[in-house]
Amino acid sequence: MSAGFEGPVAVTGASGYVASHVVRELLQRGATVHATVRNPGDAAKVAHLTKAAEGAPGTLKLFAADLLSEGSFAEALAGCVAVIHTASPFLITSIKDPQKDLVDPALLGTRNVLNQCSKTPSVRRVVLTSSVVAMYDGPSDAAAKGRPLNDTDWNETSSLTNNPYGYSKTVAEREAWTLAKAQSQWHLVVVNPGFVMGPSLTPRNDSASIDFLLGLINGKFSSGMWEFYTAWVDVRDVATAHVEAALRADAEGRHPLVSDNAGIWAAIELLRADFGSKLKLPGRRIPKWAAYLAAPFMGMTWGYVTKTVDVVFSIDGSRATERLGLTYRPLRDTLHDHVEQVIRDGLYKPS
Ligand code: NAP
Repeated sequence: MSAGFEGPVAVTGASGYVASHVVRELLQRGATVHATVRNPGDAAKVAHLTKAAEGAPGTLKLFAADLLSEGSFAEALAGCVAVIHTASPFLITSIKDPQKDLVDPALLGTRNVLNQCSKTPSVRRVVLTSSVVAMYDGPSDAAAKGRPLNDTDWNETSSLTNNPYGYSKTVAEREAWTLAKAQSQWHLVVVNPGFVMGPSLTPRNDSASIDFLLGLINGKFSSGMWEFYTAWVDVRDVATAHVEAALRADAEGRHPLVSDNAGIWAAIELLRADFGSKLKLPGRRIPKWAAYLAAPFMGMTWGYVTKTVDVVFSIDGSRATERLGLTYRPLRDTLHDHVEQVIRDGLYKPS
């Protein structure tokens, strides 16, 4: 028996940046966790999970499962009361084939996992890790609403060629709601995290979140950085939201997870205040007109500059506080703890 849960809880893509925090929190709360990974034999991908289980009151069981292989999740889901479906590629750059690299695993994977939930009578609750990008296509799209975005907003404009990651998350979440409404055995609750930052449990940097932080502090933008706004949230708060969404009987609907709506330059100044010259932070703020000139050399289109640079928007994260009891950590703590982790794990050597 799992504390708080009446049976085991499955977490898909358990080795990932976000999911491993979800697994850790479940284990700390005494749950039995059925953690799916593509290859449980890959020590580098599961060592942090087995470490999280050491001394925790809960129990960890690893299962092999692939989003694109039908029936793959049957064993892991058997006997589970709740399924937290997090596995989905988070790629912003290095996308060769958006359909194959992003949309297929997101959409077909969600269909595969949720159909397996319907075939597993013990499953009563499904939590889907969506994203705020399922709510808007980009800053100018969000700003056009003239108000903070909330759980009623949907991304209507991303496509395979325009923001394919946002498109993959949107079609996957829409499919999840369609499948949820077609049956009555399990109840769907969705969490929509903003840009997730905060200490990783692994020294790996697969998630775009970690890659982005490293780029920000290792001199990649030493010649300068333009201003863009985003919705930030701490990975530890994202984990708590998932667990509460799985546990609370009255949880329902979508939950944007956002602690701060802030520009990248506000984040850079927080890092400068805490770490000073230890980090190779972006040197100067590139004005929008100069971003147009620099765009071709920095892998950006002019359309991206128009739609993103200096465009202010915000997302309301208060529903998760009201409905899931979430207290957000301040962005300064999130960034501070994340930098300390990448230094500790040797991913960044301070100057
Ligand atoms: P991540 O560390 O790269 O995790 C992605 C996970 O998906 C990995 O565990 C990966 O497994 C798994 N996966 C990918 N393709 C798979 C397949 N074919 N079969 C089985 N598993 C597969 O990225 P993350 O940042 O933690 O993202 C996790 C989730 O959070 C995603 O749904 C993402 O959209 C969502 N999210 C992330 C952010 C953010 O800022 N990080 C914000 C909002 C939402 P392997 O380890 O085997 O590759």
